[in-house]
Amino acid sequence: MDNILIIGAGAAGSVVAKKCAMNRDVFKKIHLASRTLSKCEQVQKECKSDITVSQVDADETAQVVKLIEAQKPDLVINMALPYQDLTIMDACLAVGAHYLDTANYEPKDEAKFSYKWQWPYHDRFREKGLMAVLGCGFDPGVSNIYCAYAQNNLFDEIHTIDIVDCNDGSHGKAFATNFNPEINIREVTQRGRYWKAGQWIEIDPLSIACMIDYPQVGPRKSYLIYHEEEESLVKNIRGLKQIRFWMTFSDNYIKHLDVLQNVGMTRIDPVMFNGVEIIPLQFLKALLPEPSSLAANYTGKTSIGCILRGVKNGKPAAHIIYNVCDHAECSRELNAQAVSYTTGVPAVTGAMMILKGLWSGKGVFNVEQLPPEPFLDEVARQGLPWHVEALAEGAQKELATV
Ligand code: NDP
Repeated sequence: MDNILIIGAGAAGSVVAKKCAMNRDVFKKIHLASRTLSKCEQVQKECKSDITVSQVDADETAQVVKLIEAQKPDLVINMALPYQDLTIMDACLAVGAHYLDTANYEPKDEAKFSYKWQWPYHDRFREKGLMAVLGCGFDPGVSNIYCAYAQNNLFDEIHTIDIVDCNDGSHGKAFATNFNPEINIREVTQRGRYWKAGQWIEIDPLSIACMIDYPQVGPRKSYLIYHEEEESLVKNIRGLKQIRFWMTFSDNYIKHLDVLQNVGMTRIDPVMFNGVEIIPLQFLKALLPEPSSLAANYTGKTSIGCILRGVKNGKPAAHIIYNVCDHAECSRELNAQAVSYTTGVPAVTGAMMILKGLWSGKGVFNVEQLPPEPFLDEVARQGLPWHVEALAEGAQKELATV
């Protein structure tokens, strides 16, 4: 297996195409398709080896079926938006191709992402002898794999997981999002949620915050938000009592978001404007910088990882597993910023695992259900080294008490 089709030529999709083009020993044939052909052609020019490109509207299953029939990929890497997950999965089933993505499905008219739409594909993928790997970016993705590694190697039982995501970079724009603006703003403005003692607890958006000490960055104010890997990790990590997800947002980001929300610009229901129906958030997306355009002057680092507490050999144990990624280095290597780099490189690594047979199975899988060790070896080689540190007594004090 060595033939891949990438769908989506945005910020993260372009990282996937460029990285695959640097690994021709694994990826012999690479085809990139997206809604806007000119974006594919631009990425094609920036690739270190030849790839082919074409236009596709992945909202139309029939178009994706035709594309898969023409390209005959072993694996389709979905780097478009969550809205296209089901149409692309349907096409993979219809023609016979493995599937991998980085974000779970959400319907356009309701900002509620969940695996409840993709998990039911399990039997159909199994019956066809195909594999679908869900959520193989950084978070979800590497974050889940850190937890699987910890479960195998560092703990007898993991009791609490805090996934901690800091972007300490600066892109120099008044307001911009680091991945697709529509998906980002839908995620951040929905109600927060975490899981404790077998129950989901809902909170008002951004209503819980605490200081988290991020490796190589330092203490930063972080907000509790709901994130999709929590839904699968509560099923797949034994003995878990609590899982939460934290993300940093600058005061400037929150100020802009507040104003945009207050004036109705983040609404996702249709509004009549000059006799035309528009969705305010989609209009806002058209005004904001594309995440792929932020790389040039981006400085600073991302620091993302998992803080895990539990028991090992009958004694309390606590570890942090993390990666630090530098925006400027990503820009030099791939003309990308660190958020799209940390999303695209794990997707490429997951694709390598499938093509090399290091991840195998029939059906739909979340990444923590697959062997973490070969993935972690390869993702470090591909540019995202990871580190494990035991937490000193009293470390991450605020997080432990909030
Ligand atoms: P971008 O908006 O930069 O890219 C999305 C791309 O998908 C665009 O090129 C867009 O085309 C294309 N696209 C949209 N709709 C269609 C369609 N119907 N048919 C074909 N192509 C389409 O977003 P990002 O690259 O920042 O994000 C990509 C994905 O990565 C998202 O699903 C996001 O949620 C996920 N993500 C995951 C992370 C993780 O760690 N797991 C972190 C960050 C992002 P056009 O250019 O024409 O608009």
